[in-house]
Amino acid sequence: MRSGAGLAQAVRNGLVRMVDRSGRHPLVVVVLALLVAVLSVAATRAWLGIDTDTDHMFSSQLPWRQRSIQFDRVFPQFSDTLVAVVRAPTAEQARATAAQLARKLAADPRLFPSVATPGISPFFDREGLLLLSRHDLDSVLNRMLQAQPLLGPLALDPSARGLFGGLDLLVEGVRRGIDLFDCVAPTRMGRTGTAFTHAGRVNVRNARWRIDPRPLDSDCTCSTCQRFSRAYIRHLFVSDEVLGLRLLSLHNVHFLVSLMRAARDAIAGGDFDGWSRDWLSRYHSGSATTP
Ligand SMILES: [Zn+2]
Repeated sequence: MRSGAGLAQAVRNGLVRMVDRSGRHPLVVVVLALLVAVLSVAATRAWLGIDTDTDHMFSSQLPWRQRSIQFDRVFPQFSDTLVAVVRAPTAEQARATAAQLARKLAADPRLFPSVATPGISPFFDREGLLLLSRHDLDSVLNRMLQAQPLLGPLALDPSARGLFGGLDLLVEGVRRGIDLFDCVAPTRMGRTGTAFTHAGRVNVRNARWRIDPRPLDSDCTCSTCQRFSRAYIRHLFVSDEVLGLRLLSLHNVHFLVSLMRAARDAIAGGDFDGWSRDWLSRYHSGSATTP
């Protein structure tokens, strides 16, 4: 405590002496203050600044930084280039987004004197395949040829109806080696009143099911088919009861999962051709729509 008080007293005395001398030599004080200000400005100009180049945050010894520096040296015209990478669920969405972004940026030529979208042009749409290496081109063409039986119907009707217009496309897809399917169609169609069955599709809103006591599909083991009749499900849809949507979606998902399970069993049993022939024949019989 005593030493603290002594230190405070010494500081106070020092300040008093400094103020006293300053009052007696004002010119010296002003000159010293000006000198400090000039030195501060000089030091600020020499050593302080803001670097907005994010590249300088990384060591120039890093391999990718060295490549970047070399690239800038060889192509100085690209040194101020900003590259935006657009990711999207589909190539079409990525392309549309990139084109929209380019239009927005090009609208401000003061900030963006030049805007380009590499790979997006009518030229690449027409000639893009020819720019692939021969090996890559062979691979792409082979895959397109293999997928043609599936792509053909989809090209004619690129909607969920095109994909699931016939479940035969699924079976055909398995034959072509496709082993994974993912689509919202089972639940979307379930919500709109369409049921998959072994004998074709059924529109549950149809008046012909008004007093039909049969399940949606007599061979289906889902809980909907085990417990509810077509007539009851139709009643739910006609009455706008949300339970109808859920029961039908449940059936459709179960139906597709069962279909894939049967296809796997047929492949494992070595008789996929016979199984798929019988399955498709029954599916195309259309007896589901017959009362
Ligand atoms: Zn069912």
